Amino acid sequence: MKHKFSHFTCSLCGSDYEPEEVTYTCPKDGGNLDVILNYDAINAENSPEKFMDLPEASLWRYLNLLPVFNPGGIGTPLRRAGWTPVYKPVRLAEQLGLQNLWVKDESPNPTASFKDRASAIVVARAAQIGAEVTVAASTGNAGAALAGMAAAVGAKAVIFAPKTAPPAKIAQLIVFGARVLLVDGNYDQAFDLSIEATHNFGWYNRNTGFNPFTAEGKKTAGFEIWEQVIRRLPQDGKRLTVFIPVGDGNIISGVHKGFKDLHALGWLSEVPRIMGVQSTGSAAIANTFHQGDETIKPVAADTLADSISVDLPRDGVRAVRAARETGGTYITVPDEAILAAIAELGRVSIFAEPAAATAYAGLAKAVEDNLVEADDPILVLSTGSGLKDVKAAMQAISEAPIIEPTLDAVKKVIQ
Ligand SMILES: *Cc1c(COP(=O)(O)O)cnc(C)c1O
Ligand SMILES: [Zn+2]
Repeated sequence: MKHKFSHFTCSLCGSDYEPEEVTYTCPKDGGNLDVILNYDAINAENSPEKFMDLPEASLWRYLNLLPVFNPGGIGTPLRRAGWTPVYKPVRLAEQLGLQNLWVKDESPNPTASFKDRASAIVVARAAQIGAEVTVAASTGNAGAALAGMAAAVGAKAVIFAPKTAPPAKIAQLIVFGARVLLVDGNYDQAFDLSIEATHNFGWYNRNTGFNPFTAEGKKTAGFEIWEQVIRRLPQDGKRLTVFIPVGDGNIISGVHKGFKDLHALGWLSEVPRIMGVQSTGSAAIANTFHQGDETIKPVAADTLADSISVDLPRDGVRAVRAARETGGTYITVPDEAILAAIAELGRVSIFAEPAAATAYAGLAKAVEDNLVEADDPILVLSTGSGLKDVKAAMQAISEAPIIEPTLDAVKKVIQ
């Protein structure tokens, strides 16, 4: 293991820690820890070409770039997380006046959201350190992903979710056999309570922006974007711009980490421009970005995009840097624009939950504000399935008419 996983470095104070020395955040200042790989050792045994030929159609194709042992679980949903499709929705591109638009759809993941990437790696880490029970606080998707990935390999999970989470997400948690505790409070309260319980019961905690392995799982989306899109772009052309929906800021930090790993290996010459998109009702990270510093101030989050509804983002600093260090920016969009984006994506057969559609809404705003050019290669990350939140989807569309079972009634409606 030591040969792939060198050490942790605190993203705030820069302190280094041995892999077994710390479990969660920096003991000095609570900063998020970056996993630092041993890039020379990896480079000695791997090359970009090697990944292009791998048969494994999951994030485990990148095992050699991940800080965990092979978790086994062959033939289970654990081995199906990641390696999601990238679509080229030509009609949407034309509508926006763009020439090169891709959407990476995360809904084919085993539990139907991007969060499977993080949970797969945390479950692997839990097995490696002999943790018997893994716990997460979640607005729904992270919990469903942990419950699902744990169930796949017969591990135990405890999930704290706000009792207001969409019913489909709560159903998933329970169906996957997790111990589910619905908190009469918001996500932030569930988060704090889960950490208290973790310390009290000696569990292993997966929380976003707390456990350093979640970003390592999420970085695999960056690897896939490199393999599926970047490596196929013309060598002398423009660099890719990526739109990512942001709540806690761990997806954007993770994808950025994936690009940074590839850059450190010398396999990616230019890191893509990263654009973070938040709901105007939950914009703590966008606020900090535009103030020009790194101090994250909590907001009173209020948005229908439940997966990105966060008062105090737990990975805010790295999320600000993902845009700042890559020449990107932060964009905010109101809930009406998010609903409109659900309908737009639906027209090209991509069914997104509100948080997932937020990235596309951000692209539409960026086009309006001239933040992108017509010939920029652009990828939108759609992070989760619309089946997760059917109530929100119904707000995005007009309802279907109910008719009498007669041909006359059909004729009246079809005109
Ligand atoms: C969690 C989640 C996000 C946001 O990810 P963060 O790491 O909290 O920024 C976006 N979309 C979906 C569908 C999610 O589940
Ligand atoms: Zn620190």
